[in-house]
Amino acid sequence: MNYYIGIDLGGTNIKGMIMNETLQPVISKTAPTPQNKNPESVFSEINNLIESMAAESEIDMEDVSGIGLGVPGLIDSRQNLVLNAANLFWTDVDAGKWLHKYLKKPVYTENDGTINALGEMYFGAGRGCSNIVLLTLGTGLGSGIIIDGSILHGASHVAAEAGHMIIEPDGARCSCGKNGCFESCCSATALTRYARERIKDLPDSLLLAYASGNQEAITGEMISKAWDEEDPAAKQAVEIFARKLSLGLVNLIHLFNPEIIIISGGVSQLGERILGQAREQVENALMHPIQRCRIVTGELGIDAGVMGACYLVYSNRN
Ligand SMILES: [Zn+2]
Repeated sequence: MNYYIGIDLGGTNIKGMIMNETLQPVISKTAPTPQNKNPESVFSEINNLIESMAAESEIDMEDVSGIGLGVPGLIDSRQNLVLNAANLFWTDVDAGKWLHKYLKKPVYTENDGTINALGEMYFGAGRGCSNIVLLTLGTGLGSGIIIDGSILHGASHVAAEAGHMIIEPDGARCSCGKNGCFESCCSATALTRYARERIKDLPDSLLLAYASGNQEAITGEMISKAWDEEDPAAKQAVEIFARKLSLGLVNLIHLFNPEIIIISGGVSQLGERILGQAREQVENALMHPIQRCRIVTGELGIDAGVMGACYLVYSNRN
């Protein structure tokens, strides 16, 4: 029996999973990411997580084919090199070398958007598709692109950074230091910013009541609830968000001609409130009906990444 280990490393948690050779999950576990976030502590924690999963499920490490690792940041997957991971404060971290310190197994490292795309493609909303764009709309905006069944890597393996397409020149400041990136227009952070801006003109908004008068405490969940109550500020914030999202989606459709665009991450919980409007605007902006593609929310939630990381090992097996 062969086993595949997947690890989805995030700024807050590390998720781990082991799948058997028929790609059935055997065990999964989560551990907090060490607070100091330095590579030594993080990889030691990853090793602990792997050892405890293997011990609990009585899997001999001899039977493990390899480890798939997803990291939020710019990754050179040819060298398992994390070039930059802002929320881990990492620059040029050799993930392969660190993991080999503990485990003598092949390591496959990809960006977190990519492992999410692989997960949804093989186990979730993208089953049966081989041309997929996946966007994770959370604190930031991550993405993974699969074309003709293969991960889009680009010349130096840092392609598919959809979050940093410019959607709005002179728009809001992005985490990358530029202005008006897709991420700064269409992350969860952007959605709550739009709500706060709308409240200036609509101070009677339910959102202020939900947030006990503290604008900074407004969440996506509150916007969703207020939208259902026909609250004008929530409605307008979602409308602004959907319009900008549709601009990004149209760009991606023109470039990649996907069969499906999968939206995951925190904002995806607003579901049709956003996607209904975005779909309509995308439809109006296409050049030809042949470009139409499905725009849906992910099916696997926070498990998509770790499942995709297991699949990454499976797809690279000999
Ligand atoms: Zn940016």
